[in-house]
Amino acid sequence: MMIKSIAILGAGESGVGAALLGLKHGAKVFVSDFGRMDEDVRQELSASSIDFEEGGHTFEKIVTYDYVVKSPGIPEKSDIIQKLRAAGKKIISEIEYASIFYRGIVIAVTGSNGKTTTSGLMYHVLKNAGYDVALGGNYGKSFARIVAERDYTYMVLEVSSFQLDDIDAFRPEIAVLLNITPDHLDRYGYNMANYVDAKFKITKNQLAEDYFIYNIDDEEIKNKLNSLQLKSECYAIKAGQYLNGIYSTDDDSRFELSIKGRHNLLNGMCVVAACRRLGLNERDIADGLSTFVNLPHRLETCGIIEGVEFINDSKATNVDSVYYALDAMEQPIVWIAGGTDKGNDYEVLLPLINEKVKALICLGVDNEKLKTFFQPHISTIVETTKVSEAVEWGLRFSQKGDLVLLSPACASFDLFKNYMDRGNQFKAAVAELSIKNQ
Ligand code: ADP
Repeated sequence: MMIKSIAILGAGESGVGAALLGLKHGAKVFVSDFGRMDEDVRQELSASSIDFEEGGHTFEKIVTYDYVVKSPGIPEKSDIIQKLRAAGKKIISEIEYASIFYRGIVIAVTGSNGKTTTSGLMYHVLKNAGYDVALGGNYGKSFARIVAERDYTYMVLEVSSFQLDDIDAFRPEIAVLLNITPDHLDRYGYNMANYVDAKFKITKNQLAEDYFIYNIDDEEIKNKLNSLQLKSECYAIKAGQYLNGIYSTDDDSRFELSIKGRHNLLNGMCVVAACRRLGLNERDIADGLSTFVNLPHRLETCGIIEGVEFINDSKATNVDSVYYALDAMEQPIVWIAGGTDKGNDYEVLLPLINEKVKALICLGVDNEKLKTFFQPHISTIVETTKVSEAVEWGLRFSQKGDLVLLSPACASFDLFKNYMDRGNQFKAAVAELSIKNQ
């Protein structure tokens, strides 16, 4: 297909990637951002002589381009999208655009939680086994930017529901759906069914020779599958036996996984299924699984002070991820939580809270909901807006052998720039306390 001109809305990583890819294929390119661009983006676009505007969208200009490529961050209800739709303009997502030019094999991973971990693990196993593979999508480099660089044989892509919203023909040879729990409902009319539909778009264009790996223990996935006729070959993952980082698959193969927790067992099993499908041998799979190092802020041990282990799980911004964090721990826990609540229902945590949590330190601006909900269940509840204080109290409420776990269940924007800032501040405070206690 020849697309002669594209207008790109949003100058984030996906917008810039789409612009570079368009340029490479001889399209006339225009990038339009509603806000101010980062200086490095401005420079990158200028260096390639790409036409751009910032501080608003000029509809009259955008509408003259063949296609509009929309960044995932721009909601459907935004003015510019509404006007372009009314004008009958073709709007596609950046992953759709990139897939027009990509000739290799796509392994796409989606879900409410675990996308980055699973795609990172998938990439690591393939790379470690000597495959020509790239990793990108929703995290790190955009699909379009990678395709503009060169044609890798395999592409492991993390994809979000927002990226799937505007696909037409995007077709992963292997699709992985980890779980669907309430998230981002503001973008889906507060209707869970719309969010579920968006996630299932990962299977929309799959053919009989493609493979769909999914978690059958997830109720939303199971229910939706009952009403769908998928063309692809399906492979259901069921939680298996898991002990001290070792688990067994259906056929009794045993793998040692470098990352802990039952959720990572699921993530690892999806990777095993995908790798087997791609023809990797068992030794290479086992080797990759046991040597993987996850990114920071996901159940990351960041210090041991007086026998108390401090764990940074700042990326746990919803209840489901906290559930798995608590579940993964064997020791008594001092739990640090709080931030911007996204409509959380904490009920599912109660059995684990009652079993493991000895104190709750609320780290947020407004902690009323947390305090009220957990008061009958946790004897010690305190609150602060200072990370250093939270860490000091963590140590004070613990004894040797306990854990201090930052797993907030909430977004970070009340006190921090983002979850990374929150996690980094936590790690810095732990390091400082460790020096004080030497
Ligand atoms: P995502 O990219 O989907 O946000 P991450 O891999 O960054 O997922 O992990 C986000 C949080 O979810 C972390 O706290 C992590 O420990 C937790 N998590 C990882 N995998 C799963 C899973 N399969 N189910 C539930 N929680 C998970």
